[in-house]
Amino acid sequence: MYDYLVVGAGLYGAVFAQQAKEKGKSVLVIDKRSHIAGNVYTEEVEGINVHKYGAHIFHTNLKEVWEYVNRFIEFNRFTNSPVANYKGELYSLPFNMYTFNKMWGVVTPQEAQEKIAQQRKEAGITEPKNLEEQAISLVGTDIYEKLIKGYTQKQWGRPCNELPAFIIKRLPVRLTFDNNYFNALYQGIPIGGYTKWVENMLDGIEVRLNEDYLEKKSEYDAMAKTVVYTGPIDAYFDYKLGVLEYRSVRFDTEVLDIPNFQGNAAVNYTDSETPWTRIIEHKWFEFGTQPKTVISREYSSEWKLGDEPYYPVNNEKNTSLYQQYAKLAQKESNVIFGGRLGEYKYYDMDQVIASALEKCNQIL
Ligand code: FAD
Repeated sequence: MYDYLVVGAGLYGAVFAQQAKEKGKSVLVIDKRSHIAGNVYTEEVEGINVHKYGAHIFHTNLKEVWEYVNRFIEFNRFTNSPVANYKGELYSLPFNMYTFNKMWGVVTPQEAQEKIAQQRKEAGITEPKNLEEQAISLVGTDIYEKLIKGYTQKQWGRPCNELPAFIIKRLPVRLTFDNNYFNALYQGIPIGGYTKWVENMLDGIEVRLNEDYLEKKSEYDAMAKTVVYTGPIDAYFDYKLGVLEYRSVRFDTEVLDIPNFQGNAAVNYTDSETPWTRIIEHKWFEFGTQPKTVISREYSSEWKLGDEPYYPVNNEKNTSLYQQYAKLAQKESNVIFGGRLGEYKYYDMDQVIASALEKCNQIL
């Protein structure tokens, strides 16, 4: 009899298991995948750590989370500064003075501000009715047309004038030459890859892979006093109230026999003709010097049950369905629901770690 059965060896499960073990509890971790680390999993290809489920950059303002993660691995100094490629024109992201200089030839912050104000005025939109009008009213026509329109359309699979305005609440405009994407105190990539990091967290803890909890639920329930479930909450209840929806991403990964394909970890394709949204060149997360390179083209795609769930669709329908499942979850005795799938919530890595640490503080 274990004190805890942790379902899912992703970050939530790994943090919970690590903390439980540290407090002297017995823990078994299972995962239905053939590997640990959940969606942050990296696998080595040609000596390069490839982010199998999408590019992951660790960033946080939470000092306690930063100190916690550094107990298990060292982080490098990687700073996320993506580049936008619009039909061969390259722009710095997030929108900053480099972007404005390239777009309009302006040199000072005041000139950039005037240009944006002038374009917003010309558009004359007072009450934006859709995402297109919202974006133009925030940053003007040029930035919308070249850097927002095509990318957003590909991400959502619909034209921007058919998307609701609320998706874009604000668009950060930096009047400095700072192209660090995240406004975070701490940022980096675990040296040696995310899998190594999670492996270090799970050191000394029993882990069983290729084990689907829901297929052997009663057998597993009998093995532990408490279950920590980090899989999809609707799957736990056999979808009896309906299926929670996600947006999915497809990755097309290629090894290239050249040392450098694009000179940056992330390049966003912001035109609407290029079918992929981004290309990730994995070696640059760790300043690789390998003779080959590995790239992944990312395609945003519709999701159906059975596909890998990536981004929860937090519209009214799904939010209300989740709340009904959450009520059922509260009635389950000796089961803790956690993580991005268990709580149907987009969590950054630091947030999922903070949430697991908080849960542990409450109960352990
Ligand atoms: P998961 O990692 O999904 O772990 C859940 C685990 O449970 C999985 O391994 C799954 O196989 C297992 N499981 C499910 N059902 C069962 C079952 N029935 N039986 C056994 N096992 C089961 N965050 C950042 O901070 N920075 C980023 O740059 C970033 N990039 C991202 C890019 C993408 C494309 C996406 C989708 C997310 C990104 N995130 C990023 C968020 C990050 O991926 C999550 O915060 C993190 O993975 C959540 O961990 P988790 O443990 O909740 O979920």
